[in-house]
Formats: sequence, structure tokens, C-alpha cells
Amino acid sequence: MVANLSAIRNDFPILQRSLPNGKPLVYLDSGASAQRPQVVIDKITEVYEQYYSNVHRGVHQLGDRVTTEMESARTCIQKFIGAEHPEEIIFTSGTTMSINLVAYSWGRHFLKEGDEIILNEMEHHANFVPWQAIAKEQGAVLKFIKLTPEGRLDLEHYQSLLTNRTRLVAVTGMSNVLGTINPITEMARLAHAAGALIFVDGAQSVPHLPVNVDESEIDFLAFSGHKIFGPSGIGVLYGRKALLENLPPFLYGGNMISEVHLNESKWARLPARFEAGTPAIAQAIALGTAIEYVNQLGFDVIAEQEHQLSQYAMEQLQSVPGLEIYGPQELEQRGAIFSFNIAGAHPEDLATLLDRKGIAVRHGHHCTMPLHQLLQIPASVRASLTFYNTTEDIDALIEAIDFARQRLR
Ligand code: PLP
Repeated sequence: MVANLSAIRNDFPILQRSLPNGKPLVYLDSGASAQRPQVVIDKITEVYEQYYSNVHRGVHQLGDRVTTEMESARTCIQKFIGAEHPEEIIFTSGTTMSINLVAYSWGRHFLKEGDEIILNEMEHHANFVPWQAIAKEQGAVLKFIKLTPEGRLDLEHYQSLLTNRTRLVAVTGMSNVLGTINPITEMARLAHAAGALIFVDGAQSVPHLPVNVDESEIDFLAFSGHKIFGPSGIGVLYGRKALLENLPPFLYGGNMISEVHLNESKWARLPARFEAGTPAIAQAIALGTAIEYVNQLGFDVIAEQEHQLSQYAMEQLQSVPGLEIYGPQELEQRGAIFSFNIAGAHPEDLATLLDRKGIAVRHGHHCTMPLHQLLQIPASVRASLTFYNTTEDIDALIEAIDFARQRLR
């Protein structure tokens, strides 16, 4: 285990809490939404207590300070993902909004009848339904990369799907159900060789794995603040400058214009063109703080802790009679997400009984109905871990599963 883990856990006030039923909280639902450290909570308070006002508008001192703070968060995010320019970072409300922005702005402008978009069945609905909707609107065709029996993308099949009509490949960095880590750099090179763009849904991968959009040749990347230990209501769209400059706005109104006349308007430069209206100011600033926190911790520490936890969780879960884990069973190219079912136990009943023991997991289809259809299951239970979890958390999970199994027999 990471040497200073207890110090890390102390950074997260919610992890010190007991639940209303007196059980200590065992939080195994960071894939749905992570917890945030005290520095992020303090930053939000600092903004509201000391310099809150609107951004990019007033010349007064508060306006100046808050704008500087928000732009420095943008620069922090730019460096964090290896982007070339700060204006390639667009603040959105989250991954879902970032994907819709590109689907509508790029899709309505560039997609023609018969053009092709490549998806696959492990995608979250957020990286699935917007492409489905825009394809329908524009008469484009969706193609799906096959999944191997262990839950990885079949790269040979992917290559065979790429044609001169492929315009975009939309793929998740890490599956929110299977834990599969996809080979983004390789997929990007193949997409580009076919003349297509690649959109990476980084909601699950960006909080756990280092990313460099430049080296990985990623055209668009989306992620959410609340999954990377930051606030909810804020997210990021990265787009390569040359691409964003050629996209029409998605939302219209204040802040995104340079001139407005009675019958026509001109758009502001990047990033304002895609940030209509008043943004989530305190959240954007505190997202910068969350990313600084991750930087200070370092992905080597995060990876080591998550790898050790995954190894332990995999062994322990595999030893439960009748328990099936979905996705790759080897830890190579796999994140700390474990979705499973236990023969004879309904996932909702199981999750409810785990909650009685203080264990927070998610159950349901996890916004991946096509994947659950492929697996031929209606739902599953998901335990998602991160660096602030411990082997004691896994022990508590296994003990609670045992308690649940006895009651569900
Ligand atoms: N993509 C993946 C892989 C996710 O896991 C999620 C959320 O669970 C999303 C997209 C959507 O993120 P948000 O709800 O923050 O927009």
C-alpha cells in the first residue's frame, strides 16, 4: 500500500464520517462520482467569501480576480492533459454536455448522408445517444466495433470498419462497467490514417490515468469535474484548435459573441465562442484546485494504489461462490472498476443489503444498456475504487456480500 495513505484519506472529510445507521462509510462508488478533498471544498468557500463576481465582464477588482483565477484553472487543465493552447480548453457542465456540443456543432456542420461514425457497445449512453441522434438527423451510419469475449475492443474488427466514409470514432478511455482501458493512441493513429477524427470520452480514464492529447493524437476529449475529485456542474471539452476554430457555436447568447447587429452577429474567439452565458465560476476554479491535488499526488502513486487494490479486490471477489465479474479478468490494461452479479441475487437487493452495512456501491445498467444487452443481463452491481480506498474497504465489502448472500438464499 502507498506509505502515506492514511494522510491521503484524511484529506477527504466525508471518508471520516459514519452513516445515519452508525456504520462507517465505505465508499465504493467513485466511478459514479468521486469525493473531494478539503482543499477543493475550501477553494469553493474562498471564491464565494472573498472575490465572487461574474467573469470576463467587470473592470472592478473582484471581476479581475475571479477572471484571473478561472483562467489560471484553464491553464492548469491545459497542462494537465498536454494541450498546446489554453483556448483549446472549453468549460462545460460535464462530459455529457461536452459530447453533445461536438455532436451537434460538428455533426450538423460536417456530417453528410452516408458518412460513418464508429462506436462500440461498451460506451456509456453519454457517448452513444448523442451520436445516434445526430446520425439520424444527418442520415449518417453507425458502425460498432465488436467486443472480444473478455470485454476488450476487437482491434482487427475496428480496422476493418474504417473506410473513406468514416468521419469520427467515438470511444471511451476506460469502460465504466468492464474497467477495460482502451488503446487510444493506436486507435487514434488508425482513425487518422483513414481520414477520420477521434473523440475520447475521458470521464473514467482522466481521473486515473495520465493523458497527453498531443502525443496520443486525440482530436476531442471530454471529462467531468465531479469524477476527478472536483465539483459537480463543471466539465471540460478539449478540442484541437484548428478543429474548434472551424466549428459553429452550439449555444448562443452573452459572452460568445464579438458583435451583435439586428440581423446578424459575429462570434467571439476561442474559448468564449463555446462558453455562452455565465459559467459555473466557483466550480471551474475549484476544478483547477482538484487537478493541482491530483498533480501533487502524482499518477505513479494513484496507479500503484489502484493496482494493489485491484489485485486484492479481484482475488477476494473471485473467491465468492456464484459471483461473476464482467470484463477482463487479468489486471493488464484494466482499471479499478468491478461490475458483478451473484447467482440468484437481484442487483438491487444486493446493493440495498450492502448499504445496510455502510457499503456504497451502484447497481443497475450504469447507463450502458447496449453492453448489458450484449452480456445478456438486465443489471449488475458495481464497486469502483480509487486511491483513497483501502484493503479494509474490500474486506468490508466481502463481509457484507456474505451477509447479503445469507439473506438472499
Ligand atoms: N462517460 C462515462 C464513461 C461515464 O462513466 C459517465 C458517467 O458516469 C459519463 C460519460 C457521463 O458523465 P457526466 O454525467 O458527468 O456527464
